[in-house]
Amino acid sequence: MADKIVVGGVSVDTRHWIGGERVASDETFTDASPIDGSVIGEISRGGPAEARAAVAAARDAFPSWAATPRAERARILHAIADGVEKRIEELAIVETTDNGALLRSHRRGVMPRVAHNFRFFADWLLKLGHEDFETRGHNNHVSWDPAGPCVLITPWNAPLMLATWKVAPALAAGNTVVLKPAEWSPLTASLLADIAAEAGLPAGVLNVVQGYGSEIGDALTSHPDVRRISFTGSVPTARRIAASAAANLTPLSLELGGKSPLLVFADADLDLAVELAVEQYDNAGQVCLAATRILVEESIATEFTRRFEEKAAALTQGDPRDEATDIGPNIHPRQLQKIDGFVRRAIEGGARAVIGGHPGDGQYYAPTLLTEVAQDSEIVQEEVFGPVLTLQTFADEDEAVRLANDTRFGLAATVATGDPERAERVTAQLVAGTVWVNCFFVRDLQAPFGGSRHSGVGREGGTWSFDFYCDLKNTVTAPGGWKSH
Ligand code: NAD
Repeated sequence: MADKIVVGGVSVDTRHWIGGERVASDETFTDASPIDGSVIGEISRGGPAEARAAVAAARDAFPSWAATPRAERARILHAIADGVEKRIEELAIVETTDNGALLRSHRRGVMPRVAHNFRFFADWLLKLGHEDFETRGHNNHVSWDPAGPCVLITPWNAPLMLATWKVAPALAAGNTVVLKPAEWSPLTASLLADIAAEAGLPAGVLNVVQGYGSEIGDALTSHPDVRRISFTGSVPTARRIAASAAANLTPLSLELGGKSPLLVFADADLDLAVELAVEQYDNAGQVCLAATRILVEESIATEFTRRFEEKAAALTQGDPRDEATDIGPNIHPRQLQKIDGFVRRAIEGGARAVIGGHPGDGQYYAPTLLTEVAQDSEIVQEEVFGPVLTLQTFADEDEAVRLANDTRFGLAATVATGDPERAERVTAQLVAGTVWVNCFFVRDLQAPFGGSRHSGVGREGGTWSFDFYCDLKNTVTAPGGWKSH
């Protein structure tokens, strides 16, 4: 196995990063590009031994990092952000080659946000107050103590973005980290290790292990020295992680899948509503927040569908490195098969494809809109994670809300309406961690982020991240200070 491979002109280390050193495994796994299926390289395939080594490194590095003054921790996080900003082009091309999402979004949206993730949590750390209050002359002092080593497990659909949503607050809070990126997109996590080391993050504070979740996961999540587990991924994996973490009652944050609705009322700006609907094909539909169930008021359904078809027909599908491309490939042949299975079963069950309904060339799936779908059908109830939307109609507001809330998920919802009072009534009834009105995907790191029901457990963002990554402690001091009674 080569220790380093060159991806889009960028050198990427294929080994783990443990205790400030590159460590190779005897076994490897093959990383391929969704763009054309070509092999990118062989990556170290970690198992329990690498998991234990990484947790030990994080445990050993913890006391010193936890005791590092906040201002110094914040300075290093800003230095990591500087490193990300310097390498935006490199990170963008490596990420696009690895996971197939658009190069133009990586360049202009995602990678600048990665840097922002570090800056935001560095700044928030400095604002985090130590609360003091009095009880019958006694002083209560509430402090945010670092929790310890954190295991962070992330998916492939937005690898560095989702990893740094977790890494940045965990490090800011004074914790040490073992990051396990997804095996379908392992590369930018390795570059992050380089950037963090160059920024002066001490050895062992951030560790990166590579490998299949089924082989390395349990040794990480059941480890007694791990104090927090933050996971973004699918519901079945979340169940396994929760069961494994139960042995030590390790606190968990779970950011899971969704089947979010877009409610389009007859009083909405129809062009805007159509734009919001077509936007759901972004990242080839591999977005947890995507509003994949379009619910349209009956009276405008025909006109909405006509305009949707027109707008979707203008989308360009192809190589994600091309600036003109709107929809790239899906991540893996297995994901493509899964998507096609959902669509074929839906069509066999009576659904009609308004557009698409079949795979394209290579790892591309034709953007699809299915109608005539039953509320209790698999295609309406289960997350597809591909460019597949369903369209249903509703007669009135009550029916719209009932359909919107009628899945086991509750990650997000989008409402298109021209009536502010309706917006207020409807949003109050929706079960979702994030609700957007006449907009989509506006995400401020100050806001709580997470899902209800099977879309997740807990919230991250702003104070909520520090709530999760810290052990809150209340110290009560008797009147008169330190005299014993
Ligand atoms: P996945 O659950 O298959 O894998 C996610 C990660 O878990 C990978 O790193 C994988 O290696 C690891 N893993 C697998 N088995 C494990 C085990 N037994 N122990 C520990 N780790 C294990 O999910 P995926 O297919 O990579 O990602 C897609 C899913 O992620 C979708 O359901 C999507 O909605 C969800 N997602 C949610 C959010 C959110 O913020 N709510 C964001 C992005 C993606």
